[in-house]
Amino acid sequence: MIKISCKIYIYFIILCFANTAVSQTNPIQVLSKYIKIKSVSGNEKAAGQYMKKLCEDFGLYTTVFSDTDSSYNFCASLLPLEKNYPSVLLINHLDVVPVDENGNWKHPAFSGTVDKDTLYGRGAIDMKGLAVIQLFALKKMKERGVSDSLKTNSIILFLSGEETGGQNGAAKMIKPDILNQLNPLVVFGEGGGGLKGVIDGKENELCFFVSNAEKKSLWIKLEATVKSHGHGSVPSSKTANRLLLKAIQKIENTEERIIIDKNAEQTFKALGSIIGGYKGFILKHINWWLFKPLRRKVIHSNEALQTLATNSYQLTQILNPQGAVNQVSQTATAYYDCRLLPNKSEKPFLMKLLFRIVDPRIKITILDESPEAETSKLDIHYERLKQSLQNTFPTAHIIPLLFPATTDNSYFRNVLVPAFGVLPFELNQGMVESVHGNNEKIPVIAIEQGIKVYEDLLLFYQK
Ligand SMILES: [Zn+2]
Repeated sequence: MIKISCKIYIYFIILCFANTAVSQTNPIQVLSKYIKIKSVSGNEKAAGQYMKKLCEDFGLYTTVFSDTDSSYNFCASLLPLEKNYPSVLLINHLDVVPVDENGNWKHPAFSGTVDKDTLYGRGAIDMKGLAVIQLFALKKMKERGVSDSLKTNSIILFLSGEETGGQNGAAKMIKPDILNQLNPLVVFGEGGGGLKGVIDGKENELCFFVSNAEKKSLWIKLEATVKSHGHGSVPSSKTANRLLLKAIQKIENTEERIIIDKNAEQTFKALGSIIGGYKGFILKHINWWLFKPLRRKVIHSNEALQTLATNSYQLTQILNPQGAVNQVSQTATAYYDCRLLPNKSEKPFLMKLLFRIVDPRIKITILDESPEAETSKLDIHYERLKQSLQNTFPTAHIIPLLFPATTDNSYFRNVLVPAFGVLPFELNQGMVESVHGNNEKIPVIAIEQGIKVYEDLLLFYQK
């Protein structure tokens, strides 16, 4: 009797285990578990350790570069780093942005719920989903067997702190001692993705936007201080608020300058070829003197084109110290998030402009800025990525892109390692809007598509 019940008990335990254990061979289950490990920037270690263990279980070599809660960085490679072969380096970040607890999530943000054919959770796209895609592509390479003649390593680099500027992650990895160990020929990371409906008249055509450059971020504070009358009942045109508002108005009314550099020209050419007709012809030859009078109109016809050819100055906050309604504030502050074209003359141009148009009584301070962003040429590595995307999506157009935000890719470009950014799957509007927002989600099929693209890409480097 006792024996039988013992058997039943053990059987029950096995059943429970079977139901709750994560199948390491199933990328969806791995991603679901990975999402469950909260890794809001500053707390990446537990998530990193989970991924590191998985990499080791898959037979990959791992190397930890830094090992604290807020700066856990490691790599997994097909061959040991000691060989010091040139490598193709896939990068991702362990951290995610915080979740709005009052946000209206369909499933709790850290539940990693699979609902029908879609996986929900913070990081599903940005960027735990891409990390799992990279990992399973490398696992497939391992399963194919590693030939003795192989002279290129394939490495995945898991990084901390991307969402807070990369100082705890990518910035450490480009120090010479670590960079020499990684020895990257090229970096592939996050960036654009595959979208339909971006080109008028060609709504069903899929376009993959691959970032090869990023804008430089520059955060600026404008501060007006005026010893004005303290009481709101005394009319005055010389208050801090009025001074600041005038400055804001001047900035908003400044005609933006348009620069179509080589980088933007490549994108215009690619878009022009897809659009075709006279509109496409103008786009392809936008820098011809004949079309110069049309440039402003063409660029303003489309937000994406505007991003490519202009700096952006976004007023993000206007603040006064707390006071009563009948108290006139003596200080007023405005914050601008500026995104500059990758061109070293843009920052001096902007600062000169500000000092010229803003009242000298307003103090202008640079709060933070990203390093100068280099551009990666559309070289053999870009062509390989393009080919890999088209092997999975044969009718897709591949378009180079100046990415409007800053990512870890910039750190590598700045040490002259070519870096290209793309999410290797098809995105829809709902997915795009969910990144950093509510209901971040990725369809199961996107993960399968992504693994296929990356596997193809890694194969190029094994030939
Ligand atoms: Zn990201």
